[in-house]
Amino acid sequence: MLESELGIATFRDLLYYFPYKHIDRTRLYYIHELTADMPFVQIMGEILSFEEEGQGRKRRLLAHFTDGRGLVDLVWFQSGSFKWIKKNYLIGRKYIVFGRPGVFNGRINIPHPDMDDAESLQLGTMGMQPYYNTTDKMKKAGLNSRAMERLTSTLIAKIFPAGGVGNFPETLPASLIRQLVLVPLGQSLHDLHYPESAEALRRATYRQKFEELFFIQLNLLRFARLRQQQVRGYVFSTVGFYFNTFYTNYLPFPLTGAQKRVVREMWSDMKSGRQMNRLLQGDVGSGKTLVALLLMLIALGNGYQACLMAPTEILAEQHLATCREFLKDMPVRVELLTGNVKGKKKRTPILEGTRTGEVQILIGTHAVLEDTVEFRRLGLVVIDEQHRFGVAQRARLWKKSTPASNSVPGGFPAEIPPHVLVMTATPIPRTLAMTLYGDLDVSIIDELPPGRKPIETRHFWTEKPEALYRGIRREVLKGRQVYVVYPLIKESEKSDMQDLENGFAQLCEVFPDLRISKVHGQMKPADKDAEMARFVRGETQILVATTVIEVGVNVPNASVMVIQNAERFGLAQLHQLRGRVGRGAEQSSCILVTKYELAKETNQRIDSMCETCDGFEIAEADLKVRGPGDLEGTQQSGVAFDLHIANLARDGQLVQLARDTANQILDEDPTQSLPENALMWARLRELNKNDIDWSNIS
Ligand code: ADP
Ligand code: MG
Repeated sequence: MLESELGIATFRDLLYYFPYKHIDRTRLYYIHELTADMPFVQIMGEILSFEEEGQGRKRRLLAHFTDGRGLVDLVWFQSGSFKWIKKNYLIGRKYIVFGRPGVFNGRINIPHPDMDDAESLQLGTMGMQPYYNTTDKMKKAGLNSRAMERLTSTLIAKIFPAGGVGNFPETLPASLIRQLVLVPLGQSLHDLHYPESAEALRRATYRQKFEELFFIQLNLLRFARLRQQQVRGYVFSTVGFYFNTFYTNYLPFPLTGAQKRVVREMWSDMKSGRQMNRLLQGDVGSGKTLVALLLMLIALGNGYQACLMAPTEILAEQHLATCREFLKDMPVRVELLTGNVKGKKKRTPILEGTRTGEVQILIGTHAVLEDTVEFRRLGLVVIDEQHRFGVAQRARLWKKSTPASNSVPGGFPAEIPPHVLVMTATPIPRTLAMTLYGDLDVSIIDELPPGRKPIETRHFWTEKPEALYRGIRREVLKGRQVYVVYPLIKESEKSDMQDLENGFAQLCEVFPDLRISKVHGQMKPADKDAEMARFVRGETQILVATTVIEVGVNVPNASVMVIQNAERFGLAQLHQLRGRVGRGAEQSSCILVTKYELAKETNQRIDSMCETCDGFEIAEADLKVRGPGDLEGTQQSGVAFDLHIANLARDGQLVQLARDTANQILDEDPTQSLPENALMWARLRELNKNDIDWSNIS
């Protein structure tokens, strides 16, 4: 059951199954000492009598409890358990009671206490008592925290006979342990289960957290360095004709300072002789597309092709339209390749042009990864909205070059991979980015184009739609446009589809005088495009849609984003959707519509959205609510090392220390040969055993 429920298969797994909390059993209080602000207390005494109080949901069971000097009530609220409690806890018997004091009617009580028979509990020897998580199924079979405690105490006694922790093999070099004043590994593993004091526990926790984060960083940085040494890249020595012409004659607005800086950072990568592998992070609307276009023009100016990959058809089409518009007065051939580009007549010329190099910029979806797509000389790959592409797919693109045709006169031979630029607006906190994309260099656009006003975000209830309708009409009368988005999580969910159709019908009824468009993923691509185009041209005032519009859609005249059933979206998604408005100079707003009764966590999510428009603040909030395990992209990221106790949200500073230290080690021991580091490198190899196979990637 240990294995099936908790994944504990070996003694090592058990050793690393740490308690989620400890209770200080070293001190017994008298009842008259108790105050309501004490976190946890332990008292010893006996039950005088039981009493049931209150009606219905307020019904509770009291046990009047005394230690001979004072009186306190123990309280239980789940009426289903009353019988069991009265049967198992005996009046007049000595118990050790453990819990968190509270106040009721001006008197101190202890709700839902832990009770132990005082005879069988050896208080003096217990010290800090560990509490282990177990599943309901395990508890039913008697495998509760106490049972786990018996297992770990036996194991710890075996590993550390007579309490000696000195002989346990150390993974970190001695110099590092001294430098950071860490407790030895053996000590820390022992103390994480059975610490002598709260301070010992703190130090053990610190050491273990550092260890977990350090090995992740060591691994990432090791690969980043390997790649820097090994993977040569095409040299883009000049910005070239296309860039210069566009920049001087056709740039529609001045670049922001941040846009200029990131373009410079990336060009300096691309002329370095090494392959560029860069993540471009910038909030929604920060102007990443233009940056990508400028870099693609640099590639073209050096005689190479560029490829821009988007996660959805709509987004790819939008990129095509944007690029063609920007480049309309320039001699550049831009083409689109998606699953919808079918048939010999449409597809063949594009494939052919890509092979001969006449197609200079190819924009597309996953379709560009297919084997039939061959480039003459692919110099730069841009991946938009990276979180939907896994590491493995990234790797496939790096290999996308046709050996024979890829060697350019004067250039490098064929095995050189194209430069890679990954763009994401998914706000990721810095510490998480360091871990997920720790092998990429990072550029950040931290500035929005001038004149943008923060989007006003408000929370409305489904039950009261009138205010919402008034608001929509007001905006439309001002000449603005409105999005109304429904969740359609899976394209096949009938009930969701129903919501969208009902919503559409209702809006048509409320606004008989307005023109309303509707798009969703189940429409024929041509119809979808036609509807989108009508909205973009301003022919319709309201667009009812699913999340197909989530990423990238750009209609500056749209000023209101209404999100129906907002409780069903994650924070990152809500932020993306909100980013569809606020693209012009006028005040925009986002309205989150939910039902009235919400779970606490959902309310927190909606509140964060209303409080801030800053994607990074939202990301931090998201990470705190959900924990990193849930974040999109974490699973596929290659962070396969198990984090037992380190937490990427809370331990941000430690992530930085771990990264700095890992860099220091790699500087000191670049060939991984110093004897004092041997165990550390061995541990790293062992951790890597089950990880993704990096040798396929670079
Ligand atoms: P995102 O970073 O979300 O992909 P986009 O590239 O779609 O953002 O840009 C959002 C909008 O801002 C577009 O309409 C684009 O033309 C505009 N834009 C980009 N750069 C600038 C700039 N420097 N000044 C003014 N507007 C800009
Ligand atoms: Mg974009």
